[in-house]
Amino acid sequence: MIKKRQTVSKKKVLEFFHENEQAMSHDMIEEALQGSMDRVTIYRILKSFEEDGLIHKIMGENGKSFYALCNGCKSSHAHNHLHFQCTQCEKVECIHHEVIVPIPVGYQLKNLQLTATGICANCASQS
Ligand SMILES: [Zn+2]
Ligand SMILES: [Zn+2]
Ligand SMILES: [Zn+2]
Repeated sequence: MIKKRQTVSKKKVLEFFHENEQAMSHDMIEEALQGSMDRVTIYRILKSFEEDGLIHKIMGENGKSFYALCNGCKSSHAHNHLHFQCTQCEKVECIHHEVIVPIPVGYQLKNLQLTATGICANCASQS
């Protein structure tokens, strides 16, 4: 029974990621699920999604972790895109453009943590 419940919970969280284009923090997920899942369950689900290459972790400006859907990651993550955190609405987004990083010959880039802060297009158009 526990196993089955776990699957349903996973589906719910994954659906939530698909419904929202922005990256989500643990708190946001917990709030959206309105107490139907405890913190530990959410934490475990996020961790397993990350291990499965479904979502990737983003470090927000204040050290808060956000998670966003991956685009074609399998068992290992390969990301070299920028994350944009809006200082007004605090939304975190993946900017899906490949960032070219000058790395020395012979080095293999696996993951890049790039977080930019500023005002998102939505907030900028409202001010
Ligand atoms: Zn990934
Ligand atoms: Zn904004
Ligand atoms: Zn991303």
